[in-house]
This record gives sequence, structure tokens and C-alpha cells, in this order.
Amino acid sequence: MVIYGWNTKVLKEAPFAGHQCTNCGHENTHIVVSGSYAHIFWIPLFPYKKVLHVICDNCKHANKPKEVSEEVRSLAKQLKSKVRFPAYMFSGLAIVMVLIGYFAVATYMDGQRFEKYLSEPEVNDIYYLYDKDEPSEFKYSLLKVIDIRQDTIDVSPNGFSYNYEPTQLLEDDGFYDVFLSYHKSEIMEMFTNDELRTVKRLGSAVSGMDKVIIYNPEEFQEK
Ligand SMILES: [Zn+2]
Repeated sequence: MVIYGWNTKVLKEAPFAGHQCTNCGHENTHIVVSGSYAHIFWIPLFPYKKVLHVICDNCKHANKPKEVSEEVRSLAKQLKSKVRFPAYMFSGLAIVMVLIGYFAVATYMDGQRFEKYLSEPEVNDIYYLYDKDEPSEFKYSLLKVIDIRQDTIDVSPNGFSYNYEPTQLLEDDGFYDVFLSYHKSEIMEMFTNDELRTVKRLGSAVSGMDKVIIYNPEEFQEK
């Protein structure tokens, strides 16, 4: 359940003379400037507006700005404009900006890491291929780097297609005991064409990518 809404808080109170209460005629009043703010789970998100009342000290009637004279109103407005929203009313905005900053940095770091993985491949790196022409939703398949010979990268394909970017293989899946060779520039081209979506390095991001399955050409010729 998300709890959200508006809250109002008194920002400033000041005794005020020169206004006669419209309810009881008493002359001692005080000005109250209150601020309303949006909150979610009681965390103030952002302030919305300031509201002004002239409160009678005798009967507590809240005289609205339109009930007081022009002169009183302009004095009160001056006071209202000087009252600032306290910083805590911006807490939510501050949190959101910190989060945006965090994700921007994280995304940037991901991009940096990704390009480093492409330009400096290591054995066991996993390439995530994306086949946009595949009619089903299973558009993802993998290549695993098994050897690097100067500018040539040998990769083994996995057996299954996935409808997500797997961080671990399904039980019956694995990488075939055969390999394809690509020039580094071809890998870069696949990345540029969006055929290669991402690279993950074994250890931190992915696990269970060490299973080898036997490539049997007959399986692929039955059709
Ligand atoms: Zn009054």
C-alpha cells in the first residue's frame, strides 16, 4: 500500500495589529503562513503552496485574505513572500535526484565496462546475441569465448535460445564442444548492429556457464 497525500505545516506565525476579526470584532490577531507539501510514506516530496490566514486571538476564527482589508492583505503578503519552505520539504526531490545520479553513474560504468570487455576480451567471456529477426520471443542466445589468438576470437555457441538475458543456463543447456572464429572487428560490428547486446565476464555477473555439450550434426539435419 502506497501512502501519499498532502500535509500542511505552519511555517511562520506573527502577532498582527490593524485587523478587526470579521467574526467577533476583536483587534488582536496573528498572521499564520502555512505551507502544504506532497508526501509519500510520510517523506515530504516537494512543497506545493503557501497559505495565509489571519487568526483571531479571541475566537480563533481564521480570517481568509479576502476577508481582510487591502492594506492588511498587502502587509500579510509581504510576510508570506519572505517565508521560505524549509529544506526538509524537498527531501523526496533530493532523494530522487540522488537516485537519478546514482543510476546515471551506474549506467555509465556499465557502458565503460562493456566496451572494455569488447576491446580486451578474456577467455570465458559470454556474449549475448540478440536475433531481431527471430519470430518467437526467444531472441537471445550466447557465445562463450574459449580462445583468443591475436585478433581472432574463438567462441562456442550454446544450445538453447532464451527470451531473456540468462545469468545462468537452464539445466539441459551448455556450450557446444565446437567453436567458430571471429575477427575482433566482426565482433565490434555485431555490437554496432545491435546483434550483440552485452558482454558478461564470468565470476561476478554470471555463473554456471561451464557446461559442455556434445555437438551432433545429425540433430540439426533432421529437419
Ligand atoms: Zn474573533
